[in-house]
Amino acid sequence: MAYGAVFFDLFDTLVRFERDRLPEIEISGRRVRSTAGHLHAVLARAAPQVTLEECYAALQASWQEAERLRAIDHREVPARERFAVFFQRLGLDGATLPPDLDVALIDAHRRELAKAASFPAHHRPLLERLARRHCLAVVSNFDYSPTALAILETAGVRDLFATIVVSDEVGWRKPRADIFQAALQRAGVEPHHTLFVGDRIDIDVVGAHAVGMDAAWINPGHDPLPPGIAPPIYEIRDLADLEAIVDPS
Ligand SMILES: [Mg+2]
Repeated sequence: MAYGAVFFDLFDTLVRFERDRLPEIEISGRRVRSTAGHLHAVLARAAPQVTLEECYAALQASWQEAERLRAIDHREVPARERFAVFFQRLGLDGATLPPDLDVALIDAHRRELAKAASFPAHHRPLLERLARRHCLAVVSNFDYSPTALAILETAGVRDLFATIVVSDEVGWRKPRADIFQAALQRAGVEPHHTLFVGDRIDIDVVGAHAVGMDAAWINPGHDPLPPGIAPPIYEIRDLADLEAIVDPS
């Protein structure tokens, strides 16, 4: 099949997120990986009474609440909305806090997340070769677009993509058709000429199929296909396997 366009998921497709590279902190005698220590340092300027333990618990609670809301209809809960929940959990009144405190917290959070993202060395030359003959795009579920863009910028591949579509900005997450259609429209390509590449069968593959794209499932662990899900046309172990599919010459 000749694909004019190849669309990619971001995390665990183009970049690997390594949780064990997040800062290690001690919470109630237990060592955990979290950005809460950095957030606590930022928060201390405005709310010095908040302990690290409370900061960690509020961060966890804000994440759980965002995930609960996302599960209802795949609406994205942007980082600012999540941090409003964080303040609420800490009993802090947003109206009395410095107006840019949430942005400072989000920036501290995203700096640490970006450090935990690693871009495999072989991905850039591969994307450069693919970009010569195909329209490339990124479609990512992420609650803060600048983090996603900065990761691609740092990897030196941002300019290879016709469009980078992040759920934060579209308002809807994969597998919703809305975000796939936004990407197709912005890239100016048709779904039946587009291959979607991603690591999540339930999000990337199911969502791509629903809008009429073929899909390549990155499945390095040989996970079985869950019941009730249509198999993708391709199943690959690594992004490097993609070239033989889209540029068989
Ligand atoms: Mg992924």
